[in-house]
Amino acid sequence: MSYYPAMIASAALLTVGTAYAVYEHAWLPAFALVHGAGLLVLWARGERAAHRRALALAQRAELAARPDPDPPLAPHLQSELQRAWAELNSACCLPAGLSHHTEHDPMFCSRNRHAM
Ligand SMILES: [Zn+2]
Repeated sequence: MSYYPAMIASAALLTVGTAYAVYEHAWLPAFALVHGAGLLVLWARGERAAHRRALALAQRAELAARPDPDPPLAPHLQSELQRAWAELNSACCLPAGLSHHTEHDPMFCSRNRHAM
């Protein structure tokens, strides 16, 4: 529970009191009210910062306590992906890897060079 909104409201009330005191030329009460309002605002800012820090720490603790999310891919998809990468890496050229060896890159393909 945080009290900084009530502190800000109290500071506003003290500021209104200051305006009345100034209107009545009561300078000492006006100074005291301004001083009180300033202190309340500073205190409220500190409270608000502490409140935000506590919220962030609680959120961090909640995130740390959560179980790990599932892996992004199911195991059979991961093995399929590994097989596809192995096939692509062992292909003679990129078009061959992508087209199941039906197309080849004539500029870089070693198979075409051997075939010709
Ligand atoms: Zn090729």
